Amino acid sequence: MKIAVFSTKTYDRKYLDKFNIESKHELIYFEAPLNADTANLAIGFEGVCIFVNDKIDKKTIDKLSKIGIKLIDLRCAGFNNVDIEAASKENIKILRVPAYSPHAVAEHAVALILTLNRKTHKAYNRVRESNFSLENLTGFNLYEKTVGVIGTGKIGAAFCHIMLGFGCKVIAYDVKESEKLSAKGVEYKTLDELLENSDIISLHCPLNLNTKHLFNTKAFSKIKKGAMLINTSRGALIKTSDAIEALKNEQLGYLGIDVYEQEENLFFKDLSESVIKDDLIERLMSFHNVLITPHQGFFTNEALNQIALTTLKNFTDFENGLPLENEVKL
Ligand code: NAD
Repeated sequence: MKIAVFSTKTYDRKYLDKFNIESKHELIYFEAPLNADTANLAIGFEGVCIFVNDKIDKKTIDKLSKIGIKLIDLRCAGFNNVDIEAASKENIKILRVPAYSPHAVAEHAVALILTLNRKTHKAYNRVRESNFSLENLTGFNLYEKTVGVIGTGKIGAAFCHIMLGFGCKVIAYDVKESEKLSAKGVEYKTLDELLENSDIISLHCPLNLNTKHLFNTKAFSKIKKGAMLINTSRGALIKTSDAIEALKNEQLGYLGIDVYEQEENLFFKDLSESVIKDDLIERLMSFHNVLITPHQGFFTNEALNQIALTTLKNFTDFENGLPLENEVKL
């Protein structure tokens, strides 16, 4: 198939090219993101391949439909950036990579917890300047702390197993409870019970109409004072301005985020020589107890291999009229 691959970086090309030697699709790479303004770049292609911050709203879908695009293939699991209803009306198929390495993201969530807690990022910088002082590096034991997990699907389950291994008490909230996790010792609770009892809360549910701004002022008022919140799922699960207030009044003790609601204008770009105009992220970065990573939870060799393999298989299945096991349906 002739595919326009949007939002590409060197690593996307490297992993897709490696496996495309066998798949033999015609891949043309664009650095630009796909949105209504760039949709015409896909003229002459059969399908488009996109990533997390491409904006496939109704306007983009209408443009893609007009130029004859029949396939949108996501190189990721989440599909909150695609208007599925509009695509379905235009008979455009949406495919994704539902599971490439849940462990990659779960382990990154743990990296955020350990870094925020034990302050290894601060110690690293200090020691490089011959400052061997321990002042303000105090952490806390994870052993026997209560960890609340919101969303216990593939990534949430992998995260639960790791935290059980640390000797934590793991409680969870999900609209669909897992018997397997209960058998391992995870206790399901109501959302309020989870908020009230957790020392650390980690978000692993999808972003949708029910979960948008799940963490707002009301939710922050229910958490244990000084608790840690980790978000490796999608930025808009947290209302950033409310998180800033919760940090200012010290209700929220630590915040670790790999995703950010307004990340599309920032993440995956080197802006070190630019003036950042986003005051919310600047305010977040000013807190000593906030750690931000640029949506790198998925970024391991194993995950990148699997993303490339599944993405190419999705093209091949579509081209050959095979059942589309990774289709996102309305
Ligand atoms: P999954 O579908 O396997 O699991 C999601 C879980 O959330 C399910 O158990 C589901 O029942 C639950 N859920 C749905 N609505 C809920 C609600 N209102 N409240 C509580 N739980 C709810 O998905 P996954 O593969 O585990 O991925 C989870 C999320 O992680 C994705 O949606 C994506 O946004 C994010 N993600 C981030 C990265 C990254 O690099 N940071 C990479 C991959 C995925």
